Amino acid sequence: MWHVIGQDRALELLRRSLDNGRLAHAYLFTGPPHVGKMTLAVNLAQALNCEKENRPCGECQPCLRTAAGNHPDVQIIGRPSGADAGDGGSKKEIGIAQIRELQHSAALQPYEGKYRAYIIDGAEYLNEESANCLLKTLEEPPPTVLFILLAVQENRLLPTIVSRCQRVELFPLPASVIEKALVAHWQAAPEKARLLSRLCRGGIGWAVSALRDESLLEARSQNLDRLLELTGASLQQRFSFAASLAAQYGKNRNAVEETLNLWLEWWRDVLLVREDCSQFVTNIDREAGLRSYAECYDLIDIRGFMEAVRAALQQLEQNANSRLVLEVLMLNIPARNERSIEVHKR
Ligand SMILES: [Zn+2]
Repeated sequence: MWHVIGQDRALELLRRSLDNGRLAHAYLFTGPPHVGKMTLAVNLAQALNCEKENRPCGECQPCLRTAAGNHPDVQIIGRPSGADAGDGGSKKEIGIAQIRELQHSAALQPYEGKYRAYIIDGAEYLNEESANCLLKTLEEPPPTVLFILLAVQENRLLPTIVSRCQRVELFPLPASVIEKALVAHWQAAPEKARLLSRLCRGGIGWAVSALRDESLLEARSQNLDRLLELTGASLQQRFSFAASLAAQYGKNRNAVEETLNLWLEWWRDVLLVREDCSQFVTNIDREAGLRSYAECYDLIDIRGFMEAVRAALQQLEQNANSRLVLEVLMLNIPARNERSIEVHKR
């Protein structure tokens, strides 16, 4: 059975191709982090060598071994060691040695199944040399081999690689769908399911990881607290935070982008509370804090700062000087409005 939640269009396409025996030689699964790209890829690899009629059955030996990561004909390339479900954390480039090895083994007959499958996680991290090397194999694919490339940032892939793959797009899921799935399939407590379904930005994989590992939620919470402290911090403290963030950016871009997105989400929530749309907020565990912010900041300042965070994210994406971008952002942190200062004085 297919384990991916939602993604009906992608599933329908793959099911039909499997039933007709008309699978492409290479697929590109693209979509935001944690929406199920790896789950779908592993399911497809299971289906290739499944022994039952209803593929993938999930119960036969090839299906079980593929799911456990020890089928000799299924190989996952590019997943950083220790990372969960592929999408998070800092990624290293996929080097030429890994792709040469893949090329070599792809030319051999499958060991025990009918097909070989190669899942390339984070395909946008192929460097130029390895991408060109892979391209040669994609241009003349061996008949019993399936390539499944996974990418969050499709625009970073060589267009010639994209054009050799059948593109399958996966989408963020609505919070309501994730909430239900967490309770039904992962036995989450209803309150926890409600919170995680909102925090995960449509990526159910993150919510499932956070269910299993409390530290993810804790880290998120600490990160948010640090950001909120900045609203009352001196300029010197803000600049020293910008410097530490810029240093982190050099090592792990994703983590810094994640921090800025967290900030953006917070101010979006403050805006929603101010506009009496609390039912749509993300940080449902921080109701009191959101209400106090909504009282203390003017609408125009909230909107202005959200714009500033978006601009910072965009400039970082365009490789602007990270320290400069982050310092400018610190200068844009809005001040509490005078009305609220009056209230606090009283
Ligand atoms: Zn099976």
